[in-house]
Amino acid sequence: KKITIAIDGFSSTGKSTLAKQIAKHLGYVFVDSGAMYRAITYYAMKNNFISETHLDTAKLIENLPFVTLQFRVNEALGFAEMYLNNENVELNIRTIEVSRLVSKIAAISEVRAKLVEQQQEMGKNKGIVMDGRDIGTVVFPDADLKLFMTASTETKAQRRFDELVEKGQHVTFEEVLQNVQERDYIDTHREDSPLVKAEDAIEIDNSHLSKKEQFELVMELVNE
Ligand code: C5P
Repeated sequence: KKITIAIDGFSSTGKSTLAKQIAKHLGYVFVDSGAMYRAITYYAMKNNFISETHLDTAKLIENLPFVTLQFRVNEALGFAEMYLNNENVELNIRTIEVSRLVSKIAAISEVRAKLVEQQQEMGKNKGIVMDGRDIGTVVFPDADLKLFMTASTETKAQRRFDELVEKGQHVTFEEVLQNVQERDYIDTHREDSPLVKAEDAIEIDNSHLSKKEQFELVMELVNE
């Protein structure tokens, strides 16, 4: 019997990596909900609704009906990529510039309402693994398995730093550390759907777990 798996937690705790692994293993659909918040942020940046120094919330809300987001599977790569108004933005949404602004966009209720609705629609059929910040609390409160991922600040920053460097981006460790901390702060303190562990979620601190150990631990939970 297929189930719904919700994976939440702090930034750069390896949620997407784990979710992808599980989905692949079980033949489930994997959805990276953060990509959707990142895509809206990229849209807002392109249209000058947001920058480091300003945010025009009203303008963004007014234009939300004209924003379409889609995951389309890239057959060659074997995973889904994010499309914003029919344009592939998979690379554009992973930059440090987007990371710096995304939590501000994710704090806007109208943005959350739009994305949560779309996510719930995707979850209508079981056999889905979705990762984010509010999946077990808001998107799928009835999920069959809920995980809440944590890791030490150093571990989180090191992971994100390695990932960005691997993608050829010029960032410093300090800059990444600051961004990870800033996002966690905004995400846990926002008014609408703050990042919080669902009561029935299982917490996993993976600071000292290898990817393989973590995967095996989670597969035991899936099979329970
Ligand atoms: O998962 P990722 O780090 O790509 O998410 C980027 C940002 O999107 C988070 O820092 C958070 O502000 C927002 N987000 C959210 N709710 C989700 C997924 C992501 O608020 N379900």
